Amino acid sequence: MDIIPLPAFRDNYIWLLRRQRAAVVVDPGDAAVVEDYLQEQELALRAILITHHHADHIGGLKELLTRHPVPVYGPAGEAIEGVDHPLRDGDAVPLPELALRLTALDVPGHTAGHIAYHAPGLLFCGDTLFAAGCGRLLGGTAAQLHASLQRLAALPGDTAVYCTHEYTLANLRFAQAAEPDNALRDAYRLRCEAQRARAVPTLPTTIAEQLQVNPFLRTAEPAVIEAVTRHCGQCPADAAACFAALRRWKDAF
Ligand SMILES: [Zn+2]
Repeated sequence: MDIIPLPAFRDNYIWLLRRQRAAVVVDPGDAAVVEDYLQEQELALRAILITHHHADHIGGLKELLTRHPVPVYGPAGEAIEGVDHPLRDGDAVPLPELALRLTALDVPGHTAGHIAYHAPGLLFCGDTLFAAGCGRLLGGTAAQLHASLQRLAALPGDTAVYCTHEYTLANLRFAQAAEPDNALRDAYRLRCEAQRARAVPTLPTTIAEQLQVNPFLRTAEPAVIEAVTRHCGQCPADAAACFAALRRWKDAF
């Protein structure tokens, strides 16, 4: 199976999974982008996966369904027209055409009903976790997003993480402020800058890599707590409070 990033809008990726002539897409915000690739590669769309209700993730759904009457998986907790397989935490998504079986994970925070799709070694996390960052709070709470990120952080380190936006370099500028001294992060930044200079996606990343560089997964690190304390003028009571303060800081960064 191959996993292809289809760039859409300014900085979205629609991830397309393909095996032989079968394809599955995650968060098709733009139908034309998907349609063009399917035609060019002579692929048959077999399913659509949705992580949350935002327009840049579902905008192409209706149009794709007019040409491809395929099952659409999505979060049970969000009302999304076209989703006919609502998923709750732990529900299976069998994709026999790809020889793949994904599992839905509840990861609220960016939105209240956000889900991710997981299989051993693979994670499609929508707008929950980004490379060196995380989603904004647009419906869920900081406590929810913190818990969701902790859950993703506990996945095996070699899990490939397919995020839906190319935000990495901007996120790394904030990461530098939130944790000034981090040699692994600096090396990661150089790699990402070289990739972007060649217009190559910085994704997927891995859980192990994000544990080293992503301040939102490092809210128990003394250096991050120190930077948050300096910024807010108050020491956060615990990792959850540190996360909430870090998220507010980034919103205004
Ligand atoms: Zn979103």
